[in-house]
Amino acid sequence: MFDIIIIGGGAAAASAALTAKSRGKSVAAVANGIETTALWRAELISNYPGTPDITGRELASAMRAQLEAAATVITGRALSIMPMGDTFGAAVENEFCMARAVIIAAGITREKLYRGEAEFLGRGVSYCATCDGMLYRGKKVALIGSSDEARRDGDFLESIGCEVVRLERSAQYEISGEERADTVSFSGESIKVDGVFIIKDTVSVAKLVPGIEYKNGGIVTDGAMATSVPGVFAAGDCRGKPFQLAKAAGEGNIAALSACEYIDSLKI
Ligand SMILES: Cc1cc2nc3c(=O)[nH]c(=O)nc-3n(C[C@H](O)[C@H](O)[C@H](O)COP(=O)(O)OP(=O)(O)OC[C@H]3O[C@@H](n4cnc5c(N)ncnc54)[C@H](O)[C@@H]3O)c2cc1C
Repeated sequence: MFDIIIIGGGAAAASAALTAKSRGKSVAAVANGIETTALWRAELISNYPGTPDITGRELASAMRAQLEAAATVITGRALSIMPMGDTFGAAVENEFCMARAVIIAAGITREKLYRGEAEFLGRGVSYCATCDGMLYRGKKVALIGSSDEARRDGDFLESIGCEVVRLERSAQYEISGEERADTVSFSGESIKVDGVFIIKDTVSVAKLVPGIEYKNGGIVTDGAMATSVPGVFAAGDCRGKPFQLAKAAGEGNIAALSACEYIDSLKI
């Protein structure tokens, strides 16, 4: 059990981890690879105090090293955060970890959802073959994904007896059904399936925590970075514009202070 789980591995996450550690809290950070951070793609950063004209990669590497020093970094994709009384469980591919508070610092998800994806998530649509594959043993499933991970997940599903229809990420799909998803349609064709696995690098931040308020492209918070779900805080680009480094770092700091205060209040 950690005090705080941070979802993300960019500037907001590093800042939050440093602050939480300095307040004596144990921190886990669930983070995709450094190359997925916004900073990694920035050619030159000239407006961040203390580091005149530094490449995005240099600064991202320095921040990742700080994150690793301040937190236990679990490399992978967080699939969902589940409130469990006064604690939270985070499903991370095939791992599970728990904490008293959560900070979402997951940046922006630029990918559009497929039609029907959000509606049928948890009702025939899954983001995780390892977690849900057994439910589809002996059944026919569609697997949408083009990455190495998607290929491995397809192999895994076949190894447990699923009939797997592999589909490229780039096409436009519609997922439909009644109570549960049972059809994938694309380019005038429809396939009947028992389930649909969608394998991508990120999970929409709006879907990470059940019931979290999300509006105008960002997670809604108050000035203390508290979201609509008690114990869950958000920081950085996932809160919305402006998408700026100094804002992400500042919000990570505030979110961590608020999370620490929240945890301390639980102990009274
Ligand atoms: C090309 C470019 C140039 C820029 N130039 C500047 C500039 O000059 N000055 C400036 O101030 N700002 C600039 N920015 C903006 C700045 O880089 C961002 O605002 C800031 O880095 C955002 O940090 P973040 O931590 O909020 O998000 P990110 O850096 O996006 O980090 C989020 C991380 O969380 C990971 N993640 C998401 N979902 C999950 C999940 N479910 N499980 C695990 N990990 C997950 C992502 O893969 C990513 O690694 C630029 C951005 C870009 C793209």
